[in-house]
Amino acid sequence: MRALVMEQGSDGLAAAHVKDIDEGMLPAGDVTVKVEYSTLNYKDGLCLSPKGGGLVRNYPHVPGIDFAGIVETSKDARYAPGDKVVLTGWRVGEMHWGGYAEKARVSADWLVPLPHGLTTRQAMAVGTAGFTAMLAVLALEDHGLTPDKGPVLVTGAAGGVGSVATAILANLGYEVAGVTGRPEQAEYLKSLGASQIVARGDINEVVKRPLEAETWAGCIDAVGGEMLARILGQLKYGGSVASIGLAGGANLPASVIPFLLRGVNLLGIDSVMQPFENRQRAWARVATDLPLDKLDSMTVSATLDDLPKLGADILQGGVKGRVVVEI
Ligand code: NDP
Repeated sequence: MRALVMEQGSDGLAAAHVKDIDEGMLPAGDVTVKVEYSTLNYKDGLCLSPKGGGLVRNYPHVPGIDFAGIVETSKDARYAPGDKVVLTGWRVGEMHWGGYAEKARVSADWLVPLPHGLTTRQAMAVGTAGFTAMLAVLALEDHGLTPDKGPVLVTGAAGGVGSVATAILANLGYEVAGVTGRPEQAEYLKSLGASQIVARGDINEVVKRPLEAETWAGCIDAVGGEMLARILGQLKYGGSVASIGLAGGANLPASVIPFLLRGVNLLGIDSVMQPFENRQRAWARVATDLPLDKLDSMTVSATLDDLPKLGADILQGGVKGRVVVEI
């Protein structure tokens, strides 16, 4: 079977090779899936990098943190040959072999049935990035966000999580402001439903005053660092920010004043270890709340051979929207 395999050289650095490998190399697991599509997330960029981003433990390694395809064989009663399935998270593609191969073998616990209304290709256009955007929307709603409360800020807006978050929020009737470091993507973000574009440089500054004007009813933040610290002081009273990423840094040089004087909430979002019921809830909402024409307009196709370059690009913030990998 064809696969993208990361192999370590004598210098200890890993490089990607697209090659034919024996199916006997597949790991142990309950369900073998014929992979139709995978995708590219920021974390895939890390796993494709020479040091594996600190995520890959053993080589040779098949990356790809997401895949969608058709069950070929199953030792688990929940899945039968021919079933369409999706996998995101569970450290597949990092600690475990992932989706950049014609077949994958995993624990049945890690799979979800393909959501009604989506094809396997659309499910991978969503992927971990879009699934995480939906988890963030759900968390904000669970903390009281409604469209009448005011504008919602999306950071890293032209990236994968940001693009899907923008499209979902706009479709739900929210006024969306997108933060981007790429002014040339303003029209793209407006086409997804953003009504306001905020330049990254206007918000990516060290906190000088712990409280600024109450501006945002909520925020989905893919950037972290100084930008997240600054946003905390701009939330409206009782507003929430869903922290999903660290594209701008893992530190949080913030003040606790917005928590104490404005009752704002900082909500952590993890997509990797989400229990099955929450996964189904989020995928069902993706199927109903993400307009598929917007999903198509933010997605480009790629092959296994394109991945080494795309992996480097996404770590530089150079990938727009979502990439579907045709296996
Ligand atoms: P992308 O690269 O597609 O998007 C990230 C975006 O952030 C970029 O497109 C860019 O948007 C912006 N950005 C990049 N570098 C910087 C910088 N130095 N300062 C400010 N903004 C920057 O990645 P994904 O959407 O796949 O992932 C986004 C983040 O979310 C990553 O950190 C990823 O690890 C994390 N993540 C976390 C998950 C979880 O379970 N919590 C799941 C999925 C992703 P623009 O050009 O518009 O400014």
